[in-house]
Amino acid sequence: DGSIGISNLEKVYGEGTERTKAIDDLSFDIDGGEFVSVVGPSGCGKSTLLYIIAGFLDITDGTVSVDGTPIDGPGTDRGVVFQDYALFPWRTVKENVLYGLEEAGVPDEEADATAQRFIDMMDLSGFENKYPKELSGGMKQRVALARTLAYDPKILLMDEPFGALDQPLRETLQDQLIDIWGDLDKTVVFITHDVEEAVYLSERVMIMTRHPGTKKTVTEVDLDRS
Ligand code: ADP
Ligand code: ADP
Repeated sequence: DGSIGISNLEKVYGEGTERTKAIDDLSFDIDGGEFVSVVGPSGCGKSTLLYIIAGFLDITDGTVSVDGTPIDGPGTDRGVVFQDYALFPWRTVKENVLYGLEEAGVPDEEADATAQRFIDMMDLSGFENKYPKELSGGMKQRVALARTLAYDPKILLMDEPFGALDQPLRETLQDQLIDIWGDLDKTVVFITHDVEEAVYLSERVMIMTRHPGTKKTVTEVDLDRS
């Protein structure tokens, strides 16, 4: 159902004088279908946390589980959206969206129909044959979202996805994300340094702190959306 369990998580980069403890004894659970934001100052460990959940980074200590099973590398149960979109520049919009479906082994005809459905959902109809460099930032991020949503991950992991966009466009995409989340029943973990954005979007906000030389703390704030 897309639940995430984080237990006594620790992440250390480097060794000796280069040693940096990015995450220190972090524990919390996210229910399936929940929309959680993680906010905090630059360097507090937000991206590290997200990329650990994604399975891109090794864990120093503790466990991270999805639906009760410890993760073992990346998987199609989790989809990631990056601040810089990370589209394939040599692929068209349609081919970018098809990518995850091809990786997941979806037969061509079904993949084509599914890709088109998400292209339409993201208001990209008519742009199927354009290349990323021909698109605006907002459109590129919508292609990235379509590409990730198309293979139907239970968990959507987003790292400052609207950070490179201007304010009106951010607000448009924030509202679009709320609509998608309401329709698709996904767990969302959304990283941002913008508290206003976090409060606007989420059901729960995790605040990570960074005090040099002292233990990091995480404070959770539940927002009543009823
Ligand atoms: P945030 O996303 O909140 O800005 P990060 O997760 O990027 O924080 O970084 C947390 C800490 O880990 C910072 O002190 C950062 O300098 C350090 N860090 C991040 N990535 C690496 C890396 N690849 N090697 C060494 N230190 C890193
Ligand atoms: P939004 O993402 O909210 O649509 P954008 O600034 O991305 O806002 O684009 C506004 C509109 O401009 C798009 O919906 C599209 O119709 C048009 N547009 C943007 N880039 C291109 C492009 N490369 N070629 C043709 N039309 C474009």
